Amino acid sequence: MSVGTVYLVGSGPGDPDLMTVKAARLLETADVVLHDKLPGPEILERIPEEKREDVGKRAGGEWTPQEYTNRRLVELAREGKTVVRLKGGDPFVFGRGGEEMEQLAAADIPFEVVPGITSAIAGPGTAGIPVTHRDHASSVSFVTGHEDPTKEESAVDWDALAATGGTLVVLMGVGKLPDYTAALREAGMDPETPVALVERATWPEMRVATGTLDTIVSVRDETEIEPPAITVIGEVAGTRENVVEFLRNRTGTFEDESATQEADE
Ligand code: SAH
Repeated sequence: MSVGTVYLVGSGPGDPDLMTVKAARLLETADVVLHDKLPGPEILERIPEEKREDVGKRAGGEWTPQEYTNRRLVELAREGKTVVRLKGGDPFVFGRGGEEMEQLAAADIPFEVVPGITSAIAGPGTAGIPVTHRDHASSVSFVTGHEDPTKEESAVDWDALAATGGTLVVLMGVGKLPDYTAALREAGMDPETPVALVERATWPEMRVATGTLDTIVSVRDETEIEPPAITVIGEVAGTRENVVEFLRNRTGTFEDESATQEADE
């Protein structure tokens, strides 16, 4: 029996219309789809139940260990299956796609990479925030907010990021928002710097809340913004107000007016 191919597929941020044509085709033709919750309910509902294997958070809140996922990919391919490993956004933006690719290569399993639209760009974008703008930001950094900024050997250098003058896009950054906004202020970033939180970008219940480096923690608490959400820090976050009135992403449910109003006050 010949070995199957593994497809490391990005699902995009959640709206099924934002999946690539190739991703949609592979979901149809694959024998098995290994996924977590991040692709979102609309995309996951389209995958026939019998093909789906959830390797995300289990009941009880335990994460499936990455080693299990790696092993399972290899095992299924060796059974001759066509396997899709479906990831939210793009597989290589904080998606562990790199690790999985290395494991597959080490096990002599052929694989293909199918890029997806990352929430890191599409999240701000669909909220009316361009991550770069000729007048406001010539660079953009993608950062994990998961690290503890007070940890001595923190892998994220917030001082250096504050000094770029460009846009900072923080993923996995809802919980530690107080820590890294404090770290940026201490590094000398203007407390009036605009900040936006984009929750469940492109999902039907997408919400956006805005504030400044100084106010965004209380905005988060008032609006109860929860993961998955993107934090956008920088002047570009402030340009949203110039366009939001005419922004028609998805439907009328696109925005929670109260969240934005509270945030703008
Ligand atoms: N590979 C993914 C990111 C995985 S890390 C991508 O390219 O989009 C998980 C983080 O991604 C979440 O904590 C959140 O910050 C962000 N994220 C993913 N999908 C999102 C969405 N639809 N809306 C807002 N944030 C999202």
